[in-house]
Amino acid sequence: MPLQHFIPTIVLAIGFSACSASIDVAQYPAQPFHQAPVAQGTAKFSILGTARFETGEFTTYSGGSLWKDRQMDHAAVLVEHPRGTFLFDSGLGEHIDQQYERMPWWIPLIMSYTRGQSALSQLKSRQYDQGQIQFIIPSHLHWDHASGLPDFPDTKVWITPAELEYARQHGSPPAFLPEQYAIPADRWHIITFTNQPYENFAQSLDIFGDGAVVLVPLPGHSGGPVGMFLRSASGQRYFFIGDTTWVLEGVQIPATKQYFASRMADMDPEAIKATIVQVHRLQQKYPQLIIVPAHDHQVIKNLPQFPEFTP
Ligand SMILES: [Zn+2]
Repeated sequence: MPLQHFIPTIVLAIGFSACSASIDVAQYPAQPFHQAPVAQGTAKFSILGTARFETGEFTTYSGGSLWKDRQMDHAAVLVEHPRGTFLFDSGLGEHIDQQYERMPWWIPLIMSYTRGQSALSQLKSRQYDQGQIQFIIPSHLHWDHASGLPDFPDTKVWITPAELEYARQHGSPPAFLPEQYAIPADRWHIITFTNQPYENFAQSLDIFGDGAVVLVPLPGHSGGPVGMFLRSASGQRYFFIGDTTWVLEGVQIPATKQYFASRMADMDPEAIKATIVQVHRLQQKYPQLIIVPAHDHQVIKNLPQFPEFTP
């Protein structure tokens, strides 16, 4: 076990046994399901893996093994729709090493990363015209999701008012690195959800108006995170849930991140439970729906990696 895992293992294991409970689903009122409008359109996507890290499985979900390590990813998702191309999350960017120097000294002791190629660099190396990318939708503005924003200096960034407000008012290391999102005001595009329900979400935003890509609010982890439903041409549906859970087991059980990890990482440890239950109920209704937690390598490795796309 490397030192960087040993320290948090000792610290976090202290409370492990008392805090490894699953969420009591019955405590959360069920949100009604709404018939999703028949999708007229489809989109395709490709994963741009930008970095990896390892962590003890016990931190990733409550009840995870103390003795197993989990491979985790930092990725961006390149989405192509006939009417627009965009990134969902930005992965670790070109300047992550300099950005990371702003972290408190103790952060590298418990959290590190192994760099791969940034999203921008992968696009360039395949002669993919990055000018095609019309906007970026970070699931939220934590450092590991906003790192790539400076690599696309002319690209709009879609954000909920709550996430932007929270990041501006309270964004500080280690969760946020404000330099990453210190961008000109006209680069922000505010996401306004409509009262059109989608599945068991009361609000949504159908980006292209054809049901191919639909955003929903996923409160709890940060000020105002978003999740993204995507329907591919094969009819397969995907749901990108950002850091609502770090691994799929969190949705399946359902369970939060390990107790202390959730207390550290989740802005509202109670709201995140309600959101996890909501996603858990969705998965139960649609076992075929592919749910993608932003860092779960076990899920992400089975998705098409750039330059491969879904059909
Ligand atoms: Zn994250």
